Amino acid sequence: MNAADARRAATEAGIGESMHRLAEELYPICRSITGDGLRQTLRRVGEEVPLEIREIPTGTRVFDWTIPREWNISDAYVADASGRRVIDFRSSNLHVVNYSVPVHTRVTLEELRSRLTAVPERPDWIPYRTSYYREDWGFCLSQAALDRLEDGEYEVCIDSTLTDGSLSYGEVFLPGETQDEVLISTHACHPSLCNDNLSGVAVATFLARTIASLPRRLSYRFVFVPGTIGAIAWLHANQATVSRIKHGLVLACVGDPGRVTYKRSRKGDAEIDRAVAHVLRESGDDYELLDFSPLGYDERQYGSPGFDLPVGCFMRTPPGRFPEYHTSADDLDLVTAGSLADSLGKLLATLSVVDGNGVYVNLNPLCEPQLGRRALLRAAGGRKEARASEEALLWVLNLSDSRHTLLDIAERSGLEFGSIRAAADTLIEHDLLQAAE
Ligand code: ZN
Repeated sequence: MNAADARRAATEAGIGESMHRLAEELYPICRSITGDGLRQTLRRVGEEVPLEIREIPTGTRVFDWTIPREWNISDAYVADASGRRVIDFRSSNLHVVNYSVPVHTRVTLEELRSRLTAVPERPDWIPYRTSYYREDWGFCLSQAALDRLEDGEYEVCIDSTLTDGSLSYGEVFLPGETQDEVLISTHACHPSLCNDNLSGVAVATFLARTIASLPRRLSYRFVFVPGTIGAIAWLHANQATVSRIKHGLVLACVGDPGRVTYKRSRKGDAEIDRAVAHVLRESGDDYELLDFSPLGYDERQYGSPGFDLPVGCFMRTPPGRFPEYHTSADDLDLVTAGSLADSLGKLLATLSVVDGNGVYVNLNPLCEPQLGRRALLRAAGGRKEARASEEALLWVLNLSDSRHTLLDIAERSGLEFGSIRAAADTLIEHDLLQAAE
């Protein structure tokens, strides 16, 4: 997988729109950390890529955690005395606190209020709340709707089930020439929320689809998991083989119009951290790099001390830094086709760096080889390109002493990884370079 392949795939006409359409299709589904909404989402992803769905039974111990009972919901509402639904799950699945236990009762307005959550600062937005790992129920609504509730008695109904079942996650494995793996992980447990959830699902799906069509040195593993418990369950099931993971990225919030934000892995200077930083710097676009912290998405689990995997988190605007976060305003308008395509392009460029990286040895280390005699620069276009490619050749020749990777050379020369990789290929072709042992 080289830089040119990656660029061509990422700029395929309409690819941003295709990702947005997938998000649109998945948007209405009521997902959670378990249940049919999550399964339905995984099955839809499986129509695009060879995805296997795995089920971990309720009650299974996964490190310090236990797989919870499976949650499913068919309806929920609060109705006034006349039977009119004043809060209705059918109009937005955010209205019910996710994982609410079943309930069917009558309450006064006062009792009802203690079960309601709204955001006063954003009177038209419905917040997103969950009650994972504790038996509770509640509703979310806009402040405007809350203000409209009149005194009286209300019928409350949550038609949900909590039963022994399983937790589902999806996995796509794309074998390469080596067993060394790249892990791409995204959470797929949020209901109708777009940037925080569906953007990651859409970009991961199309990233997998694209990589499946390209020649590759590394193997690629994509996991679509419910946040936290899903990543923990996946790590528990794969303890024996996680050492194959040489590079990894968690994808989240990759569809908003903000600049790219990359949170480094726990290691801080892993190859993936350097590859992302290189691609962002070369892009010419604004971006931000953050250091690792044990907060945020599933990089917390992959980067727990017992695993310490080189997994960073690739985002645009981080959670909590956009006002729509965890509200109904994180919708299909917040996520744009252009931003999805830009994220995909930068991810493909990053993966082409780690896939193409390596250590080489100059086979003519006693002074420079005479490049002109070998017509090495023939393929280059104009004079400027010829000069750049000559520079790249000289850098690769000089630093290929079996101690520097091509990414080291790109960083030190200030040249783009793609041209360093291309120079190495040219030198290999002319028997001036070979892979280090
Ligand atoms: Zn979230």
